[in-house]
Amino acid sequence: MAERKKPHQKYKKGQQFGLHLSVYRNPGPNKLGYLVGRNNANGVDLNRNFPDLNTYIYYNEKSGGPNHHLPLPDNWKSQVEPETRAVIRWMQSFNFVLSANLHGGAVVANYPYDRSFEHPVRGVRRPANTPTPDDKLFRKLAKVYSYAHGWMYQGWNCGDYFPDGIINGASWYSLSKGMQDFNYLHTNCFDITLELSCNKFPPQEELQREWLGNREALIQFLEEVHQGIKGTVLDENYNNLANAVISVSGINHDVTSGDHGDYFRLLLPGTYTVTAKALGFDPQTETVTVGPAEPTLSHLLNNVNYFSLQLLETENPCITKQELVNFYLKRSIPQVSSVGRAPSRRHGVGAKVQPQAARKKEMEMRQLQRGPA
Ligand SMILES: [Zn+2]
Repeated sequence: MAERKKPHQKYKKGQQFGLHLSVYRNPGPNKLGYLVGRNNANGVDLNRNFPDLNTYIYYNEKSGGPNHHLPLPDNWKSQVEPETRAVIRWMQSFNFVLSANLHGGAVVANYPYDRSFEHPVRGVRRPANTPTPDDKLFRKLAKVYSYAHGWMYQGWNCGDYFPDGIINGASWYSLSKGMQDFNYLHTNCFDITLELSCNKFPPQEELQREWLGNREALIQFLEEVHQGIKGTVLDENYNNLANAVISVSGINHDVTSGDHGDYFRLLLPGTYTVTAKALGFDPQTETVTVGPAEPTLSHLLNNVNYFSLQLLETENPCITKQELVNFYLKRSIPQVSSVGRAPSRRHGVGAKVQPQAARKKEMEMRQLQRGPA
């Protein structure tokens, strides 16, 4: 059974996952009755307000720097609006696995990256397919939504055509500082953007049709949280290891374990080599075969008004086919330079990285943040 929980509520044993809904960035009329959309009281579009981490990841993809949990710029708090600050804090407070932004203005499931890797010409970046290392997975997540939706999969909507009702954000039009790129680059959360209606502000009489068109798709999207592997990273004494880095060979995007050593890695069916690393411990590698997940939820979302949803996994095993892979890391033989250094939460530096090399990379990252290309 799945339940919706408020962020401050604890997750009970046996519960499959928690679901967070955020409605505070919900477009609505202002005092004069005009629809104001996504802008806050300061007139800032909140989906163009997250720190831009794409510059760093595109650099790192070439230079071999960190591929996940990119640090925020030093002055990030002064660069973003209070609402964005609150969302970032929220994202950092839970080990979110899967999420969707619900938007309007088109009918399509849009997956990252949103920012084109092309350099801007007079402030404009040319649209270009800009896939993440998890492109196949994101395409599948987007298709799960579009094909369970009443009409999104047909592709012809609002005068646009999107094959299968999905699109890589940057190949449609390039945007910077959106939420989906941010979530993927700064947290463990895989986020897609769902454009649900041609009319950004559908009148009340259309809401019933919209709800019926989206209900099944929302449920099937939720079920995707069980597609992959999960487990706990522990030391030899069964202590939880937080911030351990879980890497899948062939996919250049790691995830980290949460405060209780729990980790979740969405993966398509297949056989994978998975390695857990933590500073001060020997890495451990396992081979795991992921089968297709089976539907387990029913009509969770009936009667829920929604505008944004976030999924949170728990450390409890569930009854789906999601593979459970626990890691028991042995403390490595101490080396003078690395003794006593706690694993870095912000950078997720793996045990294999030599401290000097890690420092050099950190310096490079910092320099890049001061003057991005
Ligand atoms: Zn949108």
